[in-house]
Amino acid sequence: MPPSKRDYYEVLGVAKGSSVEDIKKSYRKLALQFHPDRNKAKDAEDRFKEITEAYAVLSDAEKRRQYDDYGHDGFGSRYTEEEIFRGFDPSDLSDLFGQSGGGGENWFESLFGSTATTSRRGRRFGGSFEGERGRDLRFRVEIGLDEVARGGEVSIRVPRHSTCPTCSGSGLARGRRGARCPTCKGVGQVRSESNVAVKIPPGVEEGQILRVAGKGEPGLDGPEASGDLLIEVSIRPHPLFERSGSNLVHEVIIPMIDAALGCAVQVPTLSKPVELQVPEGTQPTTLLRLRGKGLPRLGQRTTGDLLVRIQVRVPESLTAAQRSLLEQFRASGTSRPSTNR
Ligand SMILES: [Zn+2]
Repeated sequence: MPPSKRDYYEVLGVAKGSSVEDIKKSYRKLALQFHPDRNKAKDAEDRFKEITEAYAVLSDAEKRRQYDDYGHDGFGSRYTEEEIFRGFDPSDLSDLFGQSGGGGENWFESLFGSTATTSRRGRRFGGSFEGERGRDLRFRVEIGLDEVARGGEVSIRVPRHSTCPTCSGSGLARGRRGARCPTCKGVGQVRSESNVAVKIPPGVEEGQILRVAGKGEPGLDGPEASGDLLIEVSIRPHPLFERSGSNLVHEVIIPMIDAALGCAVQVPTLSKPVELQVPEGTQPTTLLRLRGKGLPRLGQRTTGDLLVRIQVRVPESLTAAQRSLLEQFRASGTSRPSTNR
C-alpha cells in the first residue's frame, strides 16, 4: 500500500492542534463508517486504510511531532509503512469492529498484512461510548467444513428490545393520566426480530467469535452506541475429514499387497476427488500429503494440506492359491520380523 497522499489531519477531518481525544473520536467515527465489513462502497477499503494510517501516526506522540515538523511529504519519505504502524495496537479498536475472523487483530492483518502488526495488546479502548453503549448480543452458528473452506454468509435472526414506538419509551398511554401504554404494557420497550447477515471468513476456527459491530442492542446515543453481535462459530463434524488447524486428515484403507507394491487410490477432497500415488513399501499410519487440498488459513492467501493416513488391511482369509504364494514369499526370506525401536 503506498502511503496516503492526503494530509493526515485532513483525512481525519480534524484541526492541526486537535487533542488526542478528538483525533480518537474522529477516527472511531470514520472507521465505523468506512470499515469494509460494513461499507460496501468500492473505495471503502482504501478510505479505511487511509484513515487508519492517519490515525496510526497522529495517535503516536513522537510520530505526530515528526509529522508536524517535516510535513506530509517529508514524513512520508522518512517512514516506511511498517514503521508507520510500529507500536500501533489494533486490538485497541476491537470493540469497534472486532475481528472479521480470528483474534482481535485479524481485521487489521487482513487489510494491511501481518508485517504491520505489533505484539502489544491487552488494553481496551476507553472511548466516549462506554457506559451508554447497548448490550452485546451473543449467538451461536453451526457451519460445515465446506463453509469453512469457502467462507460465506449466514443469516442470524436476532431478537431485539427497542424503544416502544407508541410511547417513545415512557410506558405511559397518551392523553390518559396514569394509564399504561397499550403497545408495550408500560415496559417502554418492545421486542422485535431482524435478520443480520454475518460474514464467515474462510478458515474460521471452531469456537471463534465473529463480531458484527453495531448489531447488538441499541444504545441510548443512537446507532453508533449500539452493542455488537457476537457470533460463536461451531463446526459440524464431517464424515470424511478431520480438521487439524488448516490441514484436513482423511483415512484410506488399502490392502497389504498394495501397500507393499504401491498403488493409486482415489481420495475425496472438499471439491472433487483426486488420485493419490501410494509408494511401494508404505507402512501403516503413514501420512501422505496432498498440498493445498486442506483449508484456507484465516486471513491469509495460503491453504493447508490434505493429509491422507494410510491404513493397511491384512487379508483375513486366503484362497489356497494365495496362501501358497504368500508362503513362497515367506520362504524367500525377505520378511523377517523386526522390533520397533
Ligand atoms: Zn409503549
